[in-house]
Amino acid sequence: MTGDASRTALARDTGLTPGAITRAVRPLLEVGLLHETGDRAPAEGTLGRPATVVTVQAEAHLVIGVKVTADELFGVLCDLRCRVLDEVTVPVRDHRPEAIVEQITDLVAGLRAGHPEVGSIGLAVSGDVDAASGHVAYSPFLTWRDVPLGEQVAERTGLATTVENDVRALLTGERWYGVGRGLSSLALVTVGTGIGCALLVNGQVVHGSFGVAGEVGHVLVDPDGPLCHCGNRGCVEAIAGTAGILERMAQAGFGGLGIGDVADLARSGQPDAVRVLADAGRAVGTGIATIANLLGAQHIVITGEAIGSSPAPDDRGEGRPAGDERDYDVMDPHVRRAFEQRAFGSAASAAIELRPLRFVDWARGAAACAVEDFVTHYGRS
Ligand SMILES: [Zn+2]
Repeated sequence: MTGDASRTALARDTGLTPGAITRAVRPLLEVGLLHETGDRAPAEGTLGRPATVVTVQAEAHLVIGVKVTADELFGVLCDLRCRVLDEVTVPVRDHRPEAIVEQITDLVAGLRAGHPEVGSIGLAVSGDVDAASGHVAYSPFLTWRDVPLGEQVAERTGLATTVENDVRALLTGERWYGVGRGLSSLALVTVGTGIGCALLVNGQVVHGSFGVAGEVGHVLVDPDGPLCHCGNRGCVEAIAGTAGILERMAQAGFGGLGIGDVADLARSGQPDAVRVLADAGRAVGTGIATIANLLGAQHIVITGEAIGSSPAPDDRGEGRPAGDERDYDVMDPHVRRAFEQRAFGSAASAAIELRPLRFVDWARGAAACAVEDFVTHYGRS
């Protein structure tokens, strides 16, 4: 629930009994996180008593979400409906864990100033993250191993801290506040330096028994393809990740380019750039067809640093890394065509959405994890 709802609607949407809903709602009403706003008449054509409507007191508890990268920290202050009230970007001076913890502490202090309602923090980090313990087991971009990030930030800030893999954090944001509302299955794929993926199956975010699940980046699409950093050949990431694209352009005699340069060359019809980006698009399309065939996902969102159409200039995050939404538009038709060719039978019915990803969205996903943890805590108390 992210807005107004009657208890009857909550019972219907959650599958819980009205009694269970009353028990779940009571502690939230007592601490002021929910508010009863009166009765709503039964829907036209239905019988029964008027339903009591409960509303989220969105500003009763604020959260801070932070996306941690090796170059920058992106922070947002959000309310319980995950509306962004403030945001900040900070360059990373030193990506050792103790230095990043220090910078997160400062960033939190800045966003928290004047907002005593801030009660928790969500952190999104790429790599192998154990959300239950707040432990970053391995983050290749940060070169971290076994960092108890949640514990350290909680100790420094005095706030409950949730840590989640960045793509799963994005999915959590979409699940509660975005395209995933009301869906029981959703796949979210991020295309950029790496190819990330997070899955919602039967209404649950999949964490995998060993912290790995939905690794579409390492789905094999060409056994004779380029070497992947994982040691295999022809993975989606080796073909469609930024490094792979730039390496193939260098092999064709176009060294020293950025991803935007490759897209510009492709738009001007340069055959090597057209070929390399078409291969990348087909690899992504084949990877998501594999997801659809395995899971029968209702909806697949493909996004990244980013993909799809370009947002308005004032909508772009400060200090975003090289790469632009328009850089990937030439891949779009190849992604869709490969998906349609490879998805089996009705799996091809999945709605495919390609869209840009702003860096603030990562931080908002982290905030959504903090809200989810907070509400779960109160729901159990
Ligand atoms: Zn691989």
